[in-house]
Amino acid sequence: MSTENSCRDASWRAELRGAMNAKERAAIPRVKMPELDAAYRVTTCSEEVNQGISEEQAVLEATRCMDCPDPQCVSGCPVHIDIPGFIKNIQRGDFSAAAATLRLSSALPAVCGRVCPQEKQCESRCIYHKMKKEPVAIGYLERFAADTDRLSGKTAATKAEPNGIKVAVAGSGPAGLSFAGDMAQRGFEVTVFEALHEIGGVLKYGIPEFRLPNEIVDSEIETLKALGVTFVKDCIIGKTIPCEELAGMGFKGLFVASGAGLPRFMGIPGENLIGIMSSNEYLTRVNLMGAGRNDSDTPVCHGKTAAIIGGGNTAMDSVRTARRMGAERAMVIYRRSEEEMPARIEEVRHAKEEGVEFLTLHNPVEYLGDERGHVRAMRVQRMELGEPDESGRRAPVAIEGAIEEIPVDMVVVSVGVSPNPLIPDSVAGLNVSRRGTIEVNESTMESSVAGLYAGGDIVRGGATVILAMGDGKRAAAAMAESLLSRLTTA
Ligand SMILES: Cc1cc2nc3c(=O)[nH]c(=O)nc-3n(C[C@H](O)[C@H](O)[C@H](O)COP(=O)(O)OP(=O)(O)OC[C@H]3O[C@@H](n4cnc5c(N)ncnc54)[C@H](O)[C@@H]3O)c2cc1C
Repeated sequence: MSTENSCRDASWRAELRGAMNAKERAAIPRVKMPELDAAYRVTTCSEEVNQGISEEQAVLEATRCMDCPDPQCVSGCPVHIDIPGFIKNIQRGDFSAAAATLRLSSALPAVCGRVCPQEKQCESRCIYHKMKKEPVAIGYLERFAADTDRLSGKTAATKAEPNGIKVAVAGSGPAGLSFAGDMAQRGFEVTVFEALHEIGGVLKYGIPEFRLPNEIVDSEIETLKALGVTFVKDCIIGKTIPCEELAGMGFKGLFVASGAGLPRFMGIPGENLIGIMSSNEYLTRVNLMGAGRNDSDTPVCHGKTAAIIGGGNTAMDSVRTARRMGAERAMVIYRRSEEEMPARIEEVRHAKEEGVEFLTLHNPVEYLGDERGHVRAMRVQRMELGEPDESGRRAPVAIEGAIEEIPVDMVVVSVGVSPNPLIPDSVAGLNVSRRGTIEVNESTMESSVAGLYAGGDIVRGGATVILAMGDGKRAAAAMAESLLSRLTTA
């Protein structure tokens, strides 16, 4: 990364600024993200594939932004980041102002710049699509601004004047972190309770370091600590501390951000064989417990022929991890076609570059074991696409008699998750949906139990980082208003 002095002196920026008309801007090709070579990156779990764009690339890419009078990118962003505002700051070379603009709406811009599905959100609305050109690389620019600001070490968290009100958070994923940050900045005394031995939720235990390095998440956590947020690990709200005891401990409000970490299985014959596991188990053991290391006391299965069932981000993270752990044949088995795959396009491309095979329009129907109870093969049903189903995607329909057997020695099932049931099951009077999600008032995120707010995957089922963060922000605004108004009327 260039130094601040080189930024200030750079004549190329002065040349760009204001010196280009719309036609010239539109003629600039979209920046390409520098990436680690595929042959090298399958040898390392910890090195990030996307290397980040340079200052020169960022300013040039920012110059492509057309300053639309009614910027549709902003409405495509679930938390309505002032996208033209932060991009113009990059173009001006004021990277810390760009990061400050991002932080007004997003608690975790370095995370979102890496994992948000921009192609389906902000970038999908960019004016360039109308010109049949590639959109402005908003995600790459977001990551650039957040990283540059972080590495400058200049953005110190300013502690708010304490108001003496204690609030608790259950879960330290993006919803919990975003809520904690917003409440701390309003002067609340925030304690985040986390069931696991690491803070960060899916950002740590799910998404691998080759996509989101731990140091990025850790730096966000350090910022929260500097704001006065307390983190308590290995503490399960609803078990280690029952929810009803929190009031006795002085907490005036609870934000439940316990996520959707309960894996789903398909319920097909042979699913209990050794070597078959959920993606939650696989990724958590590799990412958080060092089970991928050869010297691990509890090593995870190192399959040579690995099948990953599903087509979402979790499936891609699992299959790419399996390749890195030594799978010579790593397959994604997905029952629809690639077009319907929910995974990010970039993840699918990266997986293909890394040698992953995609068996689309295939669905497992049975696993076969060897004499030791270890999976040795799977029977898969060939599918075709029928009419759209309730999800709006064309439904997979089995082709009669088209079943084949594929040898495998490891299977990771990644067909969705359900909300963690512990808190929904343990709080009297809490309204819970049939899917097990906590029901809330969407504008305040307050549940049917006064003072208990919820957000993120525990409310939405499996969703996205930015939606979880947005919920945390909304809940913080509403809880703060409610608690502070009580203080003034007391
Ligand atoms: C492998 C994987 C890859 C993904 N990739 C992407 C992606 O690229 N882009 C994207 O936008 N989204 C992605 N997602 C989805 C995204 O990560 C989630 O939507 C998001 O993390 C939800 O945030 P959350 O804060 O609600 O919950 P989580 O991140 O799940 O955090 C919940 C936390 O609560 C803790 N907890 C649970 N119960 C309790 C309790 N009773 N007491 C205390 N703590 C508790 C859990 O241990 C966990 O740490 C991915 C998900 C997975 C699993």
